[in-house]
Parts: sequence; structure tokens; C-alpha cells
Amino acid sequence: MWVRLNDVWSEAIHDRQYPDAAKRLLGEMLATTALIANNIKHDGGVTLHAVGDGPIKTAFAECQGQQALRGIIRLNEDEPLSIRDDMNFKELIGTSRMALTMQFKTGESYQGLVSTEHEMLEQTMEHYFENSEQLNTAFALNAEEETVTGCFLQRLPSTDLASDMSLAHDEAEWLRLVSLFRTIRPGELGSKGVEGVLRDLFPNDSIRLDQPKPIRFECSCDRDRCSTALQTISSDELREWADEDGGIQVTCEFCGSRYSYLKDEIRTEFNP
Ligand SMILES: [Zn+2]
Repeated sequence: MWVRLNDVWSEAIHDRQYPDAAKRLLGEMLATTALIANNIKHDGGVTLHAVGDGPIKTAFAECQGQQALRGIIRLNEDEPLSIRDDMNFKELIGTSRMALTMQFKTGESYQGLVSTEHEMLEQTMEHYFENSEQLNTAFALNAEEETVTGCFLQRLPSTDLASDMSLAHDEAEWLRLVSLFRTIRPGELGSKGVEGVLRDLFPNDSIRLDQPKPIRFECSCDRDRCSTALQTISSDELREWADEDGGIQVTCEFCGSRYSYLKDEIRTEFNP
């Protein structure tokens, strides 16, 4: 499975003043949710959400219906300048809790906790699949200024009837493929593309890449959702947010859409 984000990536970071390392992490998380959603052909939503005590306070990425991506990073305001270019996932997010959530169209959802002790997001996700799903997986992610590329290998479960010999053969094959896959160098996915990298890595194996399908940036915000959120805010807080005319402007953090409420609307809708 592979993914390459161009336009969707520039829309996702449009107008955002993220330090480079934070931007990279957002790109890697967007690619990860797109890979997972498309791998399991999940029609609902797949979200990856980390909350930590490092220079990044929150990192969130979401893929809806396999094709609609959005994401956000919130920096820890106490340490705004502490993000260095060379910081890895662990250094950026600190001690954190991360969850991978699948929301089904029926309204149900499943959430798995992702342990965050690894330095890189790739290892973090590999560990998750190995421990929670019992699936051997290898991730390679690369986020650059204009393109984000992600690729992952997953070992299909052997059948229950497989003989010891074929199990041993599957295991050896997996180890061979993964050890080659792990030699992908930083930046290589961006410069050669997924196909180029795979052909160089596995010259004697037959490689079949699925036809790409479009992925778009899309935010699920709208005025109704915004109103529902405002209904949970106390009238004192609403008054604090109001401008001099008593109105309120709400800007969506994901897409920058603005929703304005006049003083009279606030009185009738949220504070009768
Ligand atoms: Zn929005």
C-alpha cells in the first residue's frame, strides 16, 4: 500500500505557521491514516490522535471514507521556540497518549491505544500493529515541503492449514522483504517515488502497484456543528469572546472557515 500527497498536503498546511519538524510530523500522520483507511477499506473515519507534554501538545490526523484528509498540530505555548529541525516523533510529542480510532458508519467506534515509546512514528505504528493486531507491518514515511509519501508492507496471515514448512518459508520471506524495506533512506521515497524505490529494492520480485485514486483535503466542519459546539459554552464565556458589537466569530482550526454569529443570534440560539 502506498500514498502520495501533493495538493492535499499544501491545503492541509496552507496558512499554518508550523516549525518544519512539526509540519513533517503532521504529514507523516496524514499519510499514516490514509494508508490504514485504504488498507482495511474502511468507509468510516480513521483518526490518529496524540496528546503529549512535549513541544507539540496535540497532533491529530483524520481520513474519512478513505479519501478525505484533514489534520492539525497544536504547539505547547509554554515552549514555542523549542522545536528544532532534527527532532523526532518522541522528542516532539514527549510523554504522550496516542489513540487510533475507527469510526464506523453505524455510529459505533473502536479505539486502540498506541504506545509511544519509540523515536519515530514508523516504529510506533509497526509496534501497534504487531501487538494489537498481531500483524507484521513495516512503514516508511517521508514528508517534504511539497510532497508527502508513505508506503507500508503488511504480512498477510498464513492460513490455518499451512504446513510447518510453508510457515517457515513465509517467515523467511517476510524477514527478507522487511530487511530490504528497512534500507530505504530518509528522503528516498520523495526523490525516487514509491515505484522507483520498490523496483530498486526488490529487483527480482514481481511488484504490483494499485492504480492511484484521488485523495482530497476536506473538513467536516459546518455551521450546524459550530452551533452545537457553542451550545456547550457557558454564557459568561460567550460574553468574553464577543466583539464590541456583541457578535462572535469562530474560525475552524482545520480549514480556516469562519462562522459569524450576531449578537441577536447568540441570544436566541445559545443564551435564551
Ligand atoms: Zn473546517
